[in-house]
Amino acid sequence: MKASKKCPHCHQWSPWNQDVTDRCVHCQSLLDPAAFERQQAQEERKQEEKERFSVDFIQIDPSDSAFTKFWKSIGLGFQMAFVGIVSFILWLIALLAG
Ligand SMILES: [Zn+2]
Repeated sequence: MKASKKCPHCHQWSPWNQDVTDRCVHCQSLLDPAAFERQQAQEERKQEEKERFSVDFIQIDPSDSAFTKFWKSIGLGFQMAFVGIVSFILWLIALLAG
């Protein structure tokens, strides 16, 4: 059976795929504006998280001394490990959140 939803705008019944982007066939307004806004907010939060976890990796300059290169590569190793752990946690959260 196809789902239908009462349009919050024109109060007529409209076919509904339970999708947040579904629009009323009568007045073209969103059938579930609250869910749509929730999804928009979620997208924005995801974007913010992505920006927060973007790491500026240490740049190893070819003109650096062997000593500097050595310490920089250790620092880079830590950065890589950190990014790996954070990505794993984010992946786990996404998995648990379904
Ligand atoms: Zn409508």
